[in-house]
Amino acid sequence: MAAAPNPAEHGLWDLFDLTTLFSRGLQDYLNETLRRSTAWFRATGGSIFLFDERTGEHTLRAVTGHQNTLPKNATIKTGHGIAGLVLQTGEARIIDDPMHDPLFANADINRADSLQSAMVVPLMDSNRSAIGVMNLSRQAGEPPFRMPDLALAHTLGAQVVLAVTNAQMVEDMRGKTHALAAMNEKLTAVLDSVAGAVVVVGEDGTIVNHNQAAAQDSFLTGGSEADLSEVQTALRRATKETLGTRLRTNQHAHDRSADRTWLVEGVPLSSGGAVVTVKETTQIERQNREVARVKRLAEIGQMTAAIAHEIRNPLTGIRSAAAMIGQNPDMSAELVAMIEEEVLRLNALCEDFLEFARPMQLDKQPTDVADLCRKAAQLAGEDFQQFGVQLHVVAPRGLPMIDVDPRRIRQVVVNLLRNAMQASHKGGEVRLSVWETGLAVEDDGVGMSEEQVSKLFSPFFTTKADGTGLGLSTVHKIVDAHGGFLRVTSQPGKGSRFELTWEAPKE
Ligand code: ADP
Ligand code: MG
Repeated sequence: MAAAPNPAEHGLWDLFDLTTLFSRGLQDYLNETLRRSTAWFRATGGSIFLFDERTGEHTLRAVTGHQNTLPKNATIKTGHGIAGLVLQTGEARIIDDPMHDPLFANADINRADSLQSAMVVPLMDSNRSAIGVMNLSRQAGEPPFRMPDLALAHTLGAQVVLAVTNAQMVEDMRGKTHALAAMNEKLTAVLDSVAGAVVVVGEDGTIVNHNQAAAQDSFLTGGSEADLSEVQTALRRATKETLGTRLRTNQHAHDRSADRTWLVEGVPLSSGGAVVTVKETTQIERQNREVARVKRLAEIGQMTAAIAHEIRNPLTGIRSAAAMIGQNPDMSAELVAMIEEEVLRLNALCEDFLEFARPMQLDKQPTDVADLCRKAAQLAGEDFQQFGVQLHVVAPRGLPMIDVDPRRIRQVVVNLLRNAMQASHKGGEVRLSVWETGLAVEDDGVGMSEEQVSKLFSPFFTTKADGTGLGLSTVHKIVDAHGGFLRVTSQPGKGSRFELTWEAPKE
């Protein structure tokens, strides 16, 4: 039952079909709506005012025909003038002969003398608040607007409101999209200026984005002069671990043939996925090694001076003993024994020296440090008894295992215990305590001055007649090699405390 298309309805549809204008933005839409509405209603002038959130006023946004005389920045105040009244009541109105309509007395629009009839339509949104006003007018001599016009204008108004709110949303979105694009551009610039490679991966581990460095270094594609398979493996591992654990992870990669090293770090993103960065650390590692080498050279220099001094005493003894053998042959057995003793001392010194000079190789394994301490204390027990010093051990069971070289850590504990014992008075007390993240040896013995503490870890620093001064240097070296931290507190006459922790101490 297809009815013949009513030309008027067709025209009306044409009036409402302004959707294609959205793509050109709100302003174009308003202009076109006003142009078509004016034509449809055979008005000679028209204007649209829209609420402006920034100013809180309804401001002129589109104007046509004889209403072009309106000032560019015309505004409507709710309750003022006819348009203001329409805004207030939310009801459309037709005003015939506006010049004599009391409502029009204070109107700040449509004051032209020649006005015959005006139709003012509020643009109400779904919350019944006026987002604007559409104003159509006919000049004198034209027929006035009639009630059917008003109903149609009302419908048109609703359509305009829909379109305006949509267009505003689109504009808002455009603004946001623009801001997002600008931010993205900045971010890309920042990422590209970063020397290392930065790769963004999605939740499934696929690469979403990467910076220039990542592309240049061919981490992603392979095929560079350097062998990057190590880096690629580390990259994959860091990605997998970070995505799996949702925690920061890091991996080290080392290409032995080229002696290059990298640090690969994965950081989870709260929105899913992760950022993985690859930093070449070759230079830093080389510098670190160089610093360590220079430090060792300095240590060896210090030691050589000390050792020359240490060797001279026994050598003098040996030389005089040898000279005396010639003069007193009957004392030769005694003198030879003396020589032998001095040679043994020299030998022991050489052993200590070699042990100290050798680079430290750690044989790490999960270790119950508390248990290790209990056993070391047991072994030291006899010496403590002979010295008349009490040894207390506080080493709880069930502490977590720690990855250390047990032989070396035993050496640390034994050295600290022996020093503490030697520093104690008869009847004194030494306490060895172990906790989750460290251990400490405390005594109430002679203590040390600040100056003594500052020299404590220098090789050959000793205040003991038979000391080598290598004990604490070795302790320091072992703790360093484990990445641990040593702290000494001491007061002359009161005692000392040597603390070793596996975590950086909180200051
Ligand atoms: P050595 O025990 O052979 O002297 P160390 O390196 O073990 O060498 O110790 C160096 C010096 O540090 C000791 O001679 C002593 O003066 C001082 N020292 C070490 N531990 C203590 C302690 N617990 N109390 C007081 N002084 C100490
Ligand atoms: Mg010692």
